[in-house]
Amino acid sequence: MTEIFKGKFTQQEPIPEEGIAAALDVLRSGRLHRYNLVDDEPGEVAALEREFADYTGAKYALAVTSGGYAMATALRALGIGPGDRVLSNAFTLAPVPGAIASVGAVPVFVGVTEALTIDLEDLAAKADQADVLMLSHMRGHLADMDALMAICDGAGVTVIEDCAHTMGAAWRGVPSGRWGRVGCYSTQTYKHINSGEGGFLITDDDEVMARAVILSGSYMLYKRHGTVPPDDVFERVKYDTPNVSGRMDHLRAAILRPQLRALDAQCEKWNERYRVVEEGLRGTPGLTVVERAEHERYVGSSIQFLLLDWEGARIRDVLGRCLARGVELKWFGASEPSGFTSRYDSWRYAPSAPMPASDRILRGIVDMRLPLTFSLEDCAQIARIIRGEVGAVFQAQV
Ligand SMILES: *Cc1c(COP(=O)(O)O)cnc(C)c1O
Repeated sequence: MTEIFKGKFTQQEPIPEEGIAAALDVLRSGRLHRYNLVDDEPGEVAALEREFADYTGAKYALAVTSGGYAMATALRALGIGPGDRVLSNAFTLAPVPGAIASVGAVPVFVGVTEALTIDLEDLAAKADQADVLMLSHMRGHLADMDALMAICDGAGVTVIEDCAHTMGAAWRGVPSGRWGRVGCYSTQTYKHINSGEGGFLITDDDEVMARAVILSGSYMLYKRHGTVPPDDVFERVKYDTPNVSGRMDHLRAAILRPQLRALDAQCEKWNERYRVVEEGLRGTPGLTVVERAEHERYVGSSIQFLLLDWEGARIRDVLGRCLARGVELKWFGASEPSGFTSRYDSWRYAPSAPMPASDRILRGIVDMRLPLTFSLEDCAQIARIIRGEVGAVFQAQV
């Protein structure tokens, strides 16, 4: 009998009851705007900023409207503007080159390795082309951050980290987002904590934070933030930093706070699911498991595998057969952007030269979400289905 998986790859868990109760309190108060506070109440947004700074170990955290907004704000706060070049990953998602383009800058794409991390040799070769690297820890894969920082520090390149898929992850015990000058996070529904839309920016840098706060639309009420640089820093930057509104509101902050408290336990649950799928796929003929580095503490909220050097038609066949059995896989090799799987050469606003070694890998990347609404048994079943279908198509090929 052929088994069919019945779960939904886009179904997240409900918001914790505690968050729902806090959200109702905010709604009843009518005070949704982050600066709408009574007496000396701190407000949900400032409280969340302090808690996120504590969680990551950063001096400052700013809560904003999206991860893409956090990245664009980081670039602006570092003085990146029209015509500037910004190094970034060829393997990432559209919000990353989009954030670079939104400030008028131009991405310089750096290749991807079979570990699905940024190609450090290519990075070293291109490091003299830009002052900033927008490093995307795409799908949660962390590069060797010691080696990466050595390259960037040596070349005078400032690093911004896109931690949309690495909230809760670390390299050699140092949280992702704490290696570069700025770390950016998303709280969009499919990331590790869910407020529909939302994001954070973290930094230890007084001036970057002061600029980011004013950029986010502080109306000069910056003293009401959760983590605030000294006054004299604001005095230096406030007259020449524009307001580009992107503030988080109390409603979203209220539902995020209990989720942040549960984050580490949630990450453990993702990893249990990840390991079940990984073990189930290991040894499938024609399929390459992406091995994780020893120093990487990852969050397995999605899993990738490679069908390296497979013909496109056969990969499409695998995807179709898995879908017919309820398993929704995404492929980064399709020639047209679809769903979230666009590729560096489909972003026509950001011209790029072909990267054959990276193209070979991108053509083989198959990707799957692992929502926490799946049980461990679901994950084992999913792995059996993929294994069976990949195996069947591979056998027919040889
Ligand atoms: C989701 C995501 C972001 C930020 O997304 P927003 O939708 O703007 O919050 C950034 N980078 C990657 C890789 C993402 O997946």
